[in-house]
Amino acid sequence: MRPRTVLAFALGLVLFVAGCGGSGKTPEKVAASPSATSTPKPTSSPTPRPTRTTPSPKPKLRPLPKKLPAGLHRRSGSPGVALTFDDGPDPRYTPQILAQLRAAHVTATFCLVGRQAKHYPELVAQIVREGHQICNHSWRHDLDLGRRPVAEIRADLERTNRVIREAAPKAQITWFRQPGGRWTAEELAVADQLGLRPLHWSVDPQDWDHPPAQKIIKRVKSSTHHGSVVLMHDAGGDRTQTMAACRHLIPDLKRRYGIARLR
Ligand SMILES: [Zn+2]
Repeated sequence: MRPRTVLAFALGLVLFVAGCGGSGKTPEKVAASPSATSTPKPTSSPTPRPTRTTPSPKPKLRPLPKKLPAGLHRRSGSPGVALTFDDGPDPRYTPQILAQLRAAHVTATFCLVGRQAKHYPELVAQIVREGHQICNHSWRHDLDLGRRPVAEIRADLERTNRVIREAAPKAQITWFRQPGGRWTAEELAVADQLGLRPLHWSVDPQDWDHPPAQKIIKRVKSSTHHGSVVLMHDAGGDRTQTMAACRHLIPDLKRRYGIARLR
């Protein structure tokens, strides 16, 4: 592996230099690209010390099952609709959605990413203080977490729980949601051992893809029924359209179905 890594670096360096076209004017871009952040000198040092940006050997991943494993929660557990907001907390959007929920006198479930929670503990505390439900959404939003060794999955979930509890000691972390919904049976077993219930969804307006607010509204309205679990995002990118859609959706869903806590 090691000589190949060195070779890959050397090749990458050559390609990078060639790709720059000799302009030499794009240091910011270089710094922003994870593949080009390190500056190895393959000729002078045959075994460069790995830096943080050095790609580590690819871990063996279990294959993703063809079908979602059994036992996922996709219903609110009552006639009301459950709202879930993923990937936060985020200093721009989480306070906005909290204000909307507060104004409507309803609660939602926040699927928190561990390292976001670590950065914004005051937002975690506010979410808990305002009576919302908490869902563990992995430490770094690892789409492949369910495919990793069981010990790694467990450590990831525990680390995320720990940082949430540090921010809000009274937090009851009831749920876990695998990023991207890429669940495995092994991951469900770990969640169960940790007392976390696996939370999926039934309505996905794909707001992560930045559709206009009107489209988010239309998608949610056309597929929501009694007991639906609606997936949206209050972090992970520009959520302006989600915020705008929610200003309409929260009162509308409340009127038509009621907004319920997950059970
Ligand atoms: Zn997510």
